[in-house]
Parts: sequence; structure tokens; C-alpha cells
Amino acid sequence: MKHISTKFTDWQKPNKIDRALYDNVMTPNYAPMSLMPTHGEGSRLWDTDGNVYLDFAAGIAVSVLGHAHPQLRQALAAQADKLWHVSNLLVNEPAIELAQRLCDLTFADRVFFANSGAEANEAALKLARRYAVDHFGTDKHGIIAFNNSFHGRTFFTVCVGGQRKYSDGFGPKPGGIKHLPFNDIGALEKSIDHSTCAVILEPTQGEGGIMPVTDEFISAARELCTRHDALLILDEIQTGVGRSGFLYMYEKFGITPDILTTGKGLAGGFPIGAMLTTERIAKSLAVGVHGSTFGGNPMACAVANKVLEIVATRQMLDTVRAKSALLKRGLESINQRSPIFKEIRGEGLLIGCELCEPYLDRARDILNACTGHGLLVLVAGPNVLRLAPALTISEDEIARGLELLEAAIAEVVIPKK
Ligand SMILES: *Cc1c(COP(=O)(O)O)cnc(C)c1O
Repeated sequence: MKHISTKFTDWQKPNKIDRALYDNVMTPNYAPMSLMPTHGEGSRLWDTDGNVYLDFAAGIAVSVLGHAHPQLRQALAAQADKLWHVSNLLVNEPAIELAQRLCDLTFADRVFFANSGAEANEAALKLARRYAVDHFGTDKHGIIAFNNSFHGRTFFTVCVGGQRKYSDGFGPKPGGIKHLPFNDIGALEKSIDHSTCAVILEPTQGEGGIMPVTDEFISAARELCTRHDALLILDEIQTGVGRSGFLYMYEKFGITPDILTTGKGLAGGFPIGAMLTTERIAKSLAVGVHGSTFGGNPMACAVANKVLEIVATRQMLDTVRAKSALLKRGLESINQRSPIFKEIRGEGLLIGCELCEPYLDRARDILNACTGHGLLVLVAGPNVLRLAPALTISEDEIARGLELLEAAIAEVVIPKK
């Protein structure tokens, strides 16, 4: 047992802050790579050993404008000189501006701010339940979600998410949650009824392997929700903020959700989450129903305003689609030279490469080989290599990244005779 230190007055900074110390002081729930980045610029990252990496991971689809973007640094510094935090006992200019911007750019008329994606989803799910209670009574509390979906790590969101390995082992789960096969209209038709208060889905399942929703399925989900007075919640935490080539991916399908959640790239790497909804539904989030100490923080909102100013332009979204096509063409031609992928899929700069037969379960090996070649990538499950570079990545960097990837793949594939 450790005793309360009486030595706090002479606490000294460890002379080596490194990965070994990390393992001594952090809870062991992550298994980070051994390298430790110290600074970044655009799509490049440097580590403590002076190595440089090309970043196709962007902090898990977060750093939409790359690292240390001059305009984001400026927006953050300017806000840091003025006001950091006031709580929701007071209002602040950056948050009001951001809410107005999000309403102007989307279907929404009301915004709730949080600090992460999970919290945005937590708010969305609580709102859907409360809205149903307000309008239809307590029996209408069913939530329909999909196998392999991911909605965050709070206990409610992890139980709504469709990967049991993340929700098992924490005691009794909240009830009223059903999981169905994704993109299966028949299963949804059979399951949804008057007791359903919400259907929640990702327009492309991110953590679940970059699985795009079909046009038919999302349209059917919209129609069935309307018919059964259930709210359609779109989790755009990974697909949003330009990553799909649309500001929010629902635009692609010509439908509108009742609630949309956004996070990850919204403040380009500063923690933020937001839940967007309509005026009518928002009414159920009456005074005192929900809240957050930091939600709507002026620093986060000031940066998010700048991110949206830059990302929400025709030109930026067009370049995302052009870069997506370039990256996919490069991946296809790697695959022609050494067949390793069964499918290359995804929208915009959120691309999944699913491995084929002899390479099943080896996505992590490819990731490690990429790191060795100076390329940071992601996986989405054991079989899918996931690429989510900054939207600002250059065509040269895409070409270089493809070269590094091909070199890494060559290490993993069995050489042809
Ligand atoms: C990352 C993610 C979340 C969780 O966001 P956090 O900021 O980690 O809480 C939720 N939904 C989707 C689709 C995500 O990709």
C-alpha cells in the first residue's frame, strides 16, 4: 500500500518522460505504439527520436486540417488570450456563433454541445427517450441499433453499440436496446414498432470496418422511423465535418435525420462533441434535463468555428472527393500488383481496405509494417486497413503514402515465385 506522500513539496519532474514511464503511470486499457510524437505539421509528425512519419491516421479521423494548422493555431491563441471557460451558467460568443453556423449548414435548428462523441450520443439517446416519454408515454423506449456499430464508450453508448466485447463485463446493462444486422431492411421492418423511440446508425460504420450504409437501407430507416414515430439518429462522429466529401454524409442520401451527432474532427483535434436536432424535438431537453460543465467551452468552439469556415466550402469538399479518387486508384493498382485486398471501399477520405483470404486477421501486421516505413495508418477490426488522412493532405503526400504502403505490404505478403 502506498502512503500519502509528504514529499509533494519537493516533487521533481522525471528526467525521462518516455514510453516506459507511460506503462508505469497509466491504466493499461490502451496498447499504444512505441513511438512518441512531439510535434506535427500538416500531414507529418515527428517523434522523440527525430523520425518523421506521414500521417494517414490523423488521430483517428480527427485532425481534419492536419497538425498545427496556422489558422487553427491563431484561432485558439486569440481565444486563449480572452476567455477559457465560463460553464453553462453563462453564455459565450464562440459557442453561440458555432451553434448558428451548424444550424445554417445543416437540417438542424438547435444544438447541444458536449466534449466528445460518446457524450454527444449520450445526449442524443437521452433526448430520444425523453421525447418519447413527453409525447407518447413511458412504454415507448425501444432503441434499435446495428451489429458492429460503434457509438462511444460511456455505459449507455457502449451498450447501444453493436460490439458486445465492449459492453460485457460491467454488470447489468440498460434495457430496451435491440441489435439488428446492418443494411437489412426486412429485419428492421420486422423489429420496429410503436414501442421504438429511436433508430441509431452510422452512415458508414467506422470502427465496424468502414461499412457504408446502402441508399435503400437509410431511406427505409427514415421512412419506418417516420411511420412509427421513432427518431432517426445519425451518428456522424466519424463521417462528418467533410470527411465523406459532404459536410455531413446524410446529404448524399437526400434524407434528413431527427438528431445528428458530430465530434472527432469538428474542432480539428480540440475536444468537442455536438448534438444537432430540430426545434420541436429539442423542446424535450428542457431546463435541467441534461447538461455538461465544459460543453460549449469557448476554446473548443472558437477552433470549431474556424474549422467549419475552412471545411464547409464547395472547393474543400470537391478536393476531398478528388483526393479520395486518387487514393483509391492508387490502392487498386497496388492490389493489382500484389492482390491482398478483397475490397477497397468508403467515401471521401475514410477508406477501408478489406483483406482477402491468405491475409485474414493481418491488418495489424500491415499497420506495424507501415509504421516501420514511416507511414501511420489505422485498422478497423482485424481484417480492414483504414485510411483517414487530413482533408488537407497533398497529392504528393498521397503518392508518397501509397509508395510506403506498398513497401510495407511487400513485407507482409508471401513473395511470388
Ligand atoms: C469515435 C466515435 C465515437 C466516440 O467518440 P469519442 O469522442 O471517442 O467519445 C462515437 N461514434 C462514432 C461513429 C465514432 O467514430
